[in-house]
Amino acid sequence: MKLVDWTPPPCPECGADAMFHKLLSQIPSTKAFRMLNGWYCSECQAGPFQLGR
Ligand SMILES: [Zn+2]
Repeated sequence: MKLVDWTPPPCPECGADAMFHKLLSQIPSTKAFRMLNGWYCSECQAGPFQLGR
């Protein structure tokens, strides 16, 4: 198991380099998986952003 060596870009909202990935649903067929999983900003709580796609 190897972690992906990929640094997320700064927050599109506030520009803080504090993005973290949140996985709210692990079932790919659900709407929550597509809508809620993604990158969130720990500074301004913006998100989710679908980055790197
Ligand atoms: Zn932000």
